[in-house]
Amino acid sequence: MLEYGASTSGHQCRKCRRVYPPEQVPYQFTRRRRQVRLHSHANGDNRGRLGPLEYLDVCNRCLQIQRDEIKQRNRFLAKARRTLNWHATKFGFRPAAFASKYGWDVKQMAHDCEHAAKNGCPYCHMAFAEMANGLRDITLDVYDPHAEPYYTNTRWVCNTCNSKKQDMPIGDWHQVCLAFKVQRDFLLLLDQKAPVVPAAQQLPLFEMAGSAG
Ligand SMILES: [Zn+2]
Ligand SMILES: [Zn+2]
Repeated sequence: MLEYGASTSGHQCRKCRRVYPPEQVPYQFTRRRRQVRLHSHANGDNRGRLGPLEYLDVCNRCLQIQRDEIKQRNRFLAKARRTLNWHATKFGFRPAAFASKYGWDVKQMAHDCEHAAKNGCPYCHMAFAEMANGLRDITLDVYDPHAEPYYTNTRWVCNTCNSKKQDMPIGDWHQVCLAFKVQRDFLLLLDQKAPVVPAAQQLPLFEMAGSAG
């Protein structure tokens, strides 16, 4: 096991390749993990004690990023599980039976949900980051509600579109999506700055008084 306490030249993180100066090495390359206790003591302290000092070859900053990514992924997995349970119940199935009959896979669902979260609603193209409730704004739409709920018949969309669509005939929904596109293109056009035309090429708006002859 490596010890960095006596380091004089700093230390490089194996992952981000950042070199930390010697005074930061003891903070960036060591950790103490909480030891999980199975039974809490009489005083109610069940948070566990800190374990022995561990020496790391990856910096604590990288470890934090990794922990955040795992947490984020777990949020999508939890959402996928809740979504599966909700739809299974709605169709009168147990989740496992529903999943195997209609090809719903929690990991795939979590992946697709995460993809939607990054790319926005496929119907209205709004970014989920711009919506008020974050992850709660993403819902799973059974695209054709008159067909069976195979996973291939679903889409991760925004809450607003999902409730607007409801049992609307598919043909009507296509028109709504077209309207979204027209609106989006118009807004994009407004965003673009009007091209600057040199003064010499500009058309006079008014004739000078008395110049017309
Ligand atoms: Zn690092
Ligand atoms: Zn939408």
